[in-house]
Amino acid sequence: MTESKKVQPLQAVKGMNDILPPESARWEWLEAKMRSVLQRYGYQNVRVPIVEPTALFVRGIGEVTDIVEKEMYAFEDRADKHGQAEHLALRPEGTAGVVRAMIEHSYLRDSARRLYYIGPMFRREKPQKGRYRQFHQMGIEALGFAGPDVDAEVILLARTLWRELGLKEGEDVTLEINCLGQPDERRAHREALIAYLEQHKGVLDEEAQRRMYSNPLRVLDTKNPAMQSMAEGAPKLLDFLGAESLAHFNGVRALLDSVGLAYRINPRLVRGLDYYNLTVFEWVTDKLGAQGTVCAGGRYDGLIEQLGGKPAPAVGFGMGLERLLLLLETLNLQAPAAAPDVYAVVPEPADLPRILPTLEALRAAGVAVQMHGGGGSFKSQFKKADASGARFALVFGGDELARGEVAVKSLRDGAEQVSRPLADVATWATDLLPA
Ligand code: ATP
Ligand code: MG
Repeated sequence: MTESKKVQPLQAVKGMNDILPPESARWEWLEAKMRSVLQRYGYQNVRVPIVEPTALFVRGIGEVTDIVEKEMYAFEDRADKHGQAEHLALRPEGTAGVVRAMIEHSYLRDSARRLYYIGPMFRREKPQKGRYRQFHQMGIEALGFAGPDVDAEVILLARTLWRELGLKEGEDVTLEINCLGQPDERRAHREALIAYLEQHKGVLDEEAQRRMYSNPLRVLDTKNPAMQSMAEGAPKLLDFLGAESLAHFNGVRALLDSVGLAYRINPRLVRGLDYYNLTVFEWVTDKLGAQGTVCAGGRYDGLIEQLGGKPAPAVGFGMGLERLLLLLETLNLQAPAAAPDVYAVVPEPADLPRILPTLEALRAAGVAVQMHGGGGSFKSQFKKADASGARFALVFGGDELARGEVAVKSLRDGAEQVSRPLADVATWATDLLPA
């Protein structure tokens, strides 16, 4: 006798999730809401590669950042026939790739662009609730716009989405904003900040000590509780801003005020990526613990030039889909259940050639038809019809078929069963659609 060896099934990579039914229906629902809002604000879809040259992210995001230092999935590709191997990375965020594509295809030469993407991003972080190694972002980039008007627009686009999802602003999600000014203003602040950090060296953790000269602003972005009061007392960038930066900031604020959007100015909001200037913002919630930021963004006027393009201003945000779905779940804001309109009961599979044209005609008329597959008793088929959540069962019994008809039975209320002609589907298909 041969011993049968059981093959060990493989598992998904840690921190990378399968999104399966019925959960996947929630994703599609959320993405459809997003696309609808994006379309109303005039944002167009871009789809750029998931793998990019590592140098793009090093240049774009910045060398001394968590993402590039520790989190990026970077690897050396196999050498080509000349022995040259490319350094590649799974994208940890979306902005750098979009900007690269716009420069590469000269899309910014004569017009500004409003763009969006939805897709997976990769960061080697410690997986926990709301923090994964493969996660999804919807991001928007408004390229070629300098004024506070479009800063306000991207913030408001998010607010419209919250409203359509049933989230209450100021309660479920709140807006925090800050102004990072311009590089020269940050330099003056940076000197004052380094002097302050030197005075408080005793409370700085190892990472902070390492970064206090290379990236002191980031030291204030710490999640270490022992460093919070030190961070709170640090010199504030807002106090180092000149008239132009302040005018921009006040411009954004005035526009947000004009549409009644309340916000909190958070002087410690610096963001984890190097490329931001002027406006930065986060939409945060207190309902997801440490993973409280659902949407984060700001202005990055220097990035396009930094990546080799003709200088042009830009503003955008990234929104985490997993966190947003977790928040909606926590608040019991659920997608409407995805169910077919009708379930087709097929007592005799041999009759299908006479049934299928009707099912196809119904589908063409917009009716969601789930066909019973694989035969089985009338009773078991009806059980499946009930479980499917359909509002109607279409029963293609032998007697009905002989008369050229199908029986339509309501599964929701006691409405009387009716017979409908197999031909002329158009005359009764709309009765099966949701009210
Ligand atoms: P955090 O401070 O929580 O690490 P971040 O500043 O690194 O966030 P961004 O790079 O600004 O995040 O990304 C934008 C959004 O993407 C975040 O606000 C969050 O909603 C989501 N996001 C970022 N990293 C992850 C992750 N590892 N898993 C799930 N969602 C994430
Ligand atoms: Mg992070």
